[in-house]
Amino acid sequence: MSAAPPPYRGRLAPSPTGYLHLGHARTFWIAQERAAAAGGALILRSEDLDQARCRAEFRAAMLEDLRWFGLRWSEGPDVGGPHAPYTQSERMAHYTAAFEELRARGVIYPCNCSRQDVLRALGAPHAGEDEPLYPGTCRPRRGKLEIPNPKSETQRAGVNWRFRVPDGETITFSDRALGPHRETAGRDFGDFLVWRKDDLPSYQLACVVDDAAMGITEVVRGADLLTSTCRQLLLDRALGLAAPAFFHCPLMTDVSGLRLAKRDHATSLRALRAGGATPEKLRAQF
Ligand code: GLU
Repeated sequence: MSAAPPPYRGRLAPSPTGYLHLGHARTFWIAQERAAAAGGALILRSEDLDQARCRAEFRAAMLEDLRWFGLRWSEGPDVGGPHAPYTQSERMAHYTAAFEELRARGVIYPCNCSRQDVLRALGAPHAGEDEPLYPGTCRPRRGKLEIPNPKSETQRAGVNWRFRVPDGETITFSDRALGPHRETAGRDFGDFLVWRKDDLPSYQLACVVDDAAMGITEVVRGADLLTSTCRQLLLDRALGLAAPAFFHCPLMTDVSGLRLAKRDHATSLRALRAGGATPEKLRAQF
């Protein structure tokens, strides 16, 4: 007889880089409904690695706006829980351990290129922000990765690190909302950032490490993060971690068809609330 599946654990993973908007609220509402339908738990994780963009006022507003909207979590930065801390900037030990594991397995390499993707790697790549295909400038030749470089033995900071993707391999998974999805490594995406020279993990690595450490069984998030999933599955495999299931929600757009973004203050939950909206009325639009 096969073992019973682990109990459902979902997560809300906002970044306090601005005020949450109606699009976030809808995705999180779907996450909450799916957790409730499965009789599972919902975890709140604050993804604040990009300290230059995260602000104390956004952190406070994030918790307040989520609660106002009717979202509830049983583990999180404000309530604690067995997998604390639930704030990424306080979880560096988990990320450095994963980095060392990847380095020991010879699947990452140092990269000196200064490119746009390095600048952006701390945040989740939303629509139009996906990292460009890395041309492989710093990629060592095959076979070279296995030879430990004495200089890189201890040094982690001071250089960017990329994950070497298995060129030509097609990664497939079945999204619970959008159906089958496939991407070919080296063609649809290339060697991606896992660590930045300022000694911070990329969003891709931090997300995988935390979802596994927190026992997340299903990731519910916006469809614009679909293209991150194959990268994350490769990281799960390289780290020997069980991958969660995925449910990517179609995105909410504004009247002109553009994706809602934090910079558009009109759809922030704060502004809607100040204008007299109630969570019930807003949810009726979903
Ligand atoms: N923190 C990310 C964001 O706010 C979400 C990442 C995820 O759900 O994997 O865009």
